[in-house]
Amino acid sequence: MARINFNEVDSYSNNTGNDWFKLQNNNDSALVQFLFKDLDDLDIFSVHEVEVKYKNGQSKTRFLDCKRNYDDPLDVCPLCERGSQRKPVIILSLYDHTDKKVKIWQRGKKFLETLKGYSTQYPDFTKVPFRIIRNGAKGDQNTTYTVIPATDVTPINVEDVERPNLLGSFILDKTVDEINTYIDTGAFPENGSEDNTEQQVTRRSRRG
Ligand SMILES: [Zn+2]
Repeated sequence: MARINFNEVDSYSNNTGNDWFKLQNNNDSALVQFLFKDLDDLDIFSVHEVEVKYKNGQSKTRFLDCKRNYDDPLDVCPLCERGSQRKPVIILSLYDHTDKKVKIWQRGKKFLETLKGYSTQYPDFTKVPFRIIRNGAKGDQNTTYTVIPATDVTPINVEDVERPNLLGSFILDKTVDEINTYIDTGAFPENGSEDNTEQQVTRRSRRG
């Protein structure tokens, strides 16, 4: 069973208040229960990537929630209005049997396809333990994950387990005024809430 040390987890976890699910090495595995019933119950955000610089000199790409719904005109979101691309971000919430913690895990469409394959047999994922196995050495960009229902394990009741609130932590949640300030100055106004001790200073220009 993998040991997961969240003090070591990548920079994204800084100050977001959420634990990340992580399997470090090839063949590491963990037993989990998802906290979403089905694929319609997933946390999917439409975000812009913004470059945020912190007091310690590090800069990070963060996700910023787009202000637009599908049918809203472009000018509802200052970044869309300026031609900034947005992309969907899928975050899975899960309960890790290994250390009894709630964690989040960012996955792509491919992983969802795998889960979709189980949805007929298991209409409510929260009631089924799954074993997740890493296929890929540490650092391998082509790492994939195998997901297998763990029918030999008794599920725990996760009904009362709270799902992490991702908006305003992992996903920056800013007002239109704050986004305009970012566009003008390269930094969001400090409000002391979601960014804690971190401060955005400049925005780096990005291409691609
Ligand atoms: Zn937008």
